[in-house]
Amino acid sequence: MSSAKYVFVTGGVTSSLGKGIISASLATLLQSRGHRVTIQKFDPYLNVDPGTLNPYEHGECYVTEDGAETDLDLGHYERFMNHPTSQANNVTTGSVYQSVIQKERRGDFLGKTVQVIPHITNEIKERMQILGNSGDYDVIITELGGTVGDIESLPYVESVRQLCWEKPDDCMVVHLTLIPYLTAAGELKTKPTQHSVKALQESGVFPDVLVCRTEHEINESIRRKLALFCNVQPDAVIQSIDAETIYDVPKLMKEEQLDKVVLKNLGLNHTGEADITRWEEFVFNLKNPKNEIDIALVGKYVELKDSYKSISEAFIHASATSRCKVNLHWIHSEKLNDQSAKEALKGMHGVLVAPGFGPRGIDGKLHAVKYARENKIPFLGICLGMQASVIEYARNVLNHQDAHSAEMNPDSSHPVIDIMEEQKKITDMGGTMRLGACACELKKGTIAHAVYGADLISERHRHRYEFNNAYLAQYEEAGMKATGINPETGLVEIVEIPDHPWFVGVQFHPEYKSTVANPHPLFVSFVKAVLKNKA
Ligand code: GLN
Repeated sequence: MSSAKYVFVTGGVTSSLGKGIISASLATLLQSRGHRVTIQKFDPYLNVDPGTLNPYEHGECYVTEDGAETDLDLGHYERFMNHPTSQANNVTTGSVYQSVIQKERRGDFLGKTVQVIPHITNEIKERMQILGNSGDYDVIITELGGTVGDIESLPYVESVRQLCWEKPDDCMVVHLTLIPYLTAAGELKTKPTQHSVKALQESGVFPDVLVCRTEHEINESIRRKLALFCNVQPDAVIQSIDAETIYDVPKLMKEEQLDKVVLKNLGLNHTGEADITRWEEFVFNLKNPKNEIDIALVGKYVELKDSYKSISEAFIHASATSRCKVNLHWIHSEKLNDQSAKEALKGMHGVLVAPGFGPRGIDGKLHAVKYARENKIPFLGICLGMQASVIEYARNVLNHQDAHSAEMNPDSSHPVIDIMEEQKKITDMGGTMRLGACACELKKGTIAHAVYGADLISERHRHRYEFNNAYLAQYEEAGMKATGINPETGLVEIVEIPDHPWFVGVQFHPEYKSTVANPHPLFVSFVKAVLKNKA
């Protein structure tokens, strides 16, 4: 078996250049040439994982099949590659230190002084090669979070240097940089890139490819200048011009021959062309809708749209499938009361109530559910959104006025959403929720069963609280049905109201599994129902 090849992706000049999208686009191109590819992300912060971070910090927390709480870039990787990632695909400085310190306590380094070099860098190098050593992949793309020159990135850059030294034939570095345009001078400027490459070179890392983010076309003379001063081949200067959608980027990178340059650097066959016909069909359908709908996304982190990244991307996938443009209207749940909910949701063809934690904004979510339920507007509730639909139903249909989730009101006399027995003794907050893939059995003759076309499905979870089965009979009797049940625990995973055109609440997160190649059926069905409602 030949050894895996490693592509390290670093970023210079500024953050938010889109390393994740470039990595995912490269993976897409390599995959379409038949290579087995995965992408991993190394984040330089001290949280063990992003699960304890507020979405305002780094956007949504993405959850993998095996229950890892990860950076949202892993969502992009899966959406582009249509291949699951795992715990091993996201490493943070916190998790690296945690494991080195555990080893020290165990006595693994007995007698030695434990230091950043070599102990932390060895740990990083080991983690960088876990997926490569699994034998499951030909190419491992490793995205380094942060920007070259940051103090906290240094151990990662040093680890990359060592790996490039140890495996010169199997490793390469792609450096993503910014070529700013100075309007007053009417010029693109290369100096920031020269400086960031120099910073890498001073650390002993020599980029093989430059991917240059730019708002304007980079001409031949700038490409040559960049190549000469940054010490790369002229064909290894890749332009990454601002795109209309992130889904344009694989095609743009193909036109710039990023895949060929990378394969050449790795000593792999680079003849022929990547076949991205299906991808291009998807983009065509996305850009040429035949219809348009308005959907309200009710949440409390709407100021930062990255907080609901997977949801908005799942709508994009569904909108391409249905050739129907989805206009998402971001509505702040904190601003909704009985009256303002009517005003804000008037004219919306569908309502989605988003996931979330804690009491802030919950009342607004309940008002949004009530409006959608009473006005027969297609409704999708995800996680806390599903819990909100259960609470609203208890209050306004079952007449349990103070019904609530135990998360919001531990003293409610009707805790229709409650904490599970095994969660009660847990005191640590990190990585202790119900996380990752769980099975769910679907009842025949329900929306869920029709949507999935299966009796048994698997979806990813991330929550502590659950539907309280003590109330199940009351709900079923009144008209809200449990249509998806966890076969191992009996927990309610899906609720529906049959006496409503399309009302579905799911305790899991379908958005995590929607990809370009496999748009999620629940989102596709929701979009269809919304379109029908509009008509
Ligand atoms: N806060 C709720 C719980 O922990 C819902 C979580 C979520 O929406 N992801 O159960």
